Amino acid sequence: MFNAKAYSAASATSPLASTTIPRREATERDVQIEILFCGICHSDLHTVRDEWHSIMPTVYPCVPGHEIVGRVTRVGSAVTKFKQGDLAGVGCLVDSDHTCPNCQDGLEQLCPNQTLTFNSPDKHLGGVTYGGYSESIVVDESFVLRVPANLNLAGVAPLLCAGITTYSPIRRWGDITGKKVGVVGLGGLGHMGVKFARAFGAHVVVFTTSPGKKEDALRLGAHEVIVSTNAEEMQRHAGSFAFILDTIAADHDINAYINMLGRDGNITLVGAPEKPLAVSAFALLFGRRSLSGSIIGGIAETQEMLDFCGDHTITADVEVIPIQKVNEAYERLVKSDVKYRFSIDMASLKSE
Ligand code: NAP
Ligand code: ZN
Repeated sequence: MFNAKAYSAASATSPLASTTIPRREATERDVQIEILFCGICHSDLHTVRDEWHSIMPTVYPCVPGHEIVGRVTRVGSAVTKFKQGDLAGVGCLVDSDHTCPNCQDGLEQLCPNQTLTFNSPDKHLGGVTYGGYSESIVVDESFVLRVPANLNLAGVAPLLCAGITTYSPIRRWGDITGKKVGVVGLGGLGHMGVKFARAFGAHVVVFTTSPGKKEDALRLGAHEVIVSTNAEEMQRHAGSFAFILDTIAADHDINAYINMLGRDGNITLVGAPEKPLAVSAFALLFGRRSLSGSIIGGIAETQEMLDFCGDHTITADVEVIPIQKVNEAYERLVKSDVKYRFSIDMASLKSE
């Protein structure tokens, strides 16, 4: 065991603050990574503030962060995929049982015995796992991703969660070439959804509550932007979408978006608001529409997404911050004031 510098929250109402945490010595199958950048996902904030208490209560101290990119500093004797000095990524998962039907299908994100990167029981050290707001992490090589060398690393970090969470449901829906696809909410997930939907050839429409994000939405790849608070604009597009990805982090009227779908249209939720949403049965019945959910993606699919990003030079649009600004960043996240992902430069932890 060794100590690593990190930032943790002591309770649901405490700010994140400097601390040290234990990390395990690399076992034969482990990769030790010096973390260079870690994205700030809204799930970090939900967890730090214990907003998902009824589903996944937070254990404190909590070290969030599951959008990790860094450099390999050490590998165990049985590691074959990585060597010292390689770039490496870690997303939301650090382990699973490898044997259940989901794992066998490459869907580790659905494994009932998965270990999340933070706030999950830690099989090695006891207590809970600690995430990427830290100088280092030690992870089983089967959960470590290869990072294309041609991409900006601060913008790569968010691909490990925001990237795969939007890539996976869009891919799963099928061929969206020429189809009208909506992305609801232009935050960390939403802006990646726009980039992927555009890259796959859809006619992309952003729904936003922030009129000030209109120009950015177009620059990021949207063909049209709808300000969702404008009833007239919404009405004009009713019944016209094939697929909609809903990334909203807070309570909202989902029926307004279900009504945007055409016949057999699907709306997939990736946003995870604290409280249940009220769904109108009639909005689904008329038009034979469907509502689904999706959670991150499997390890093989995450690698496929990273390779796709390497081939198409896709990264997140990031605001790079030192770790000392993390609490300020959380306040801005709550106000939807992020363009479009915060990425923490972990070199800033050295001064703590
Ligand atoms: P984010 O950067 O805060 O973006 C969320 C966006 O939703 C905001 O930028 C805003 O966009 C819109 N929004 C926020 N509050 C709203 C409200 N009250 N009404 C309508 N729109 C609102 O968050 P994120 O990191 O993208 O995460 C989004 C959600 O996905 C979170 O709940 C997170 O926990 C969840 N998540 C799920 C998965 C998964 O695997 N399913 C993975 C990662 C994250 P506009 O300003 O454009 O309106
Ligand atoms: Zn996330």
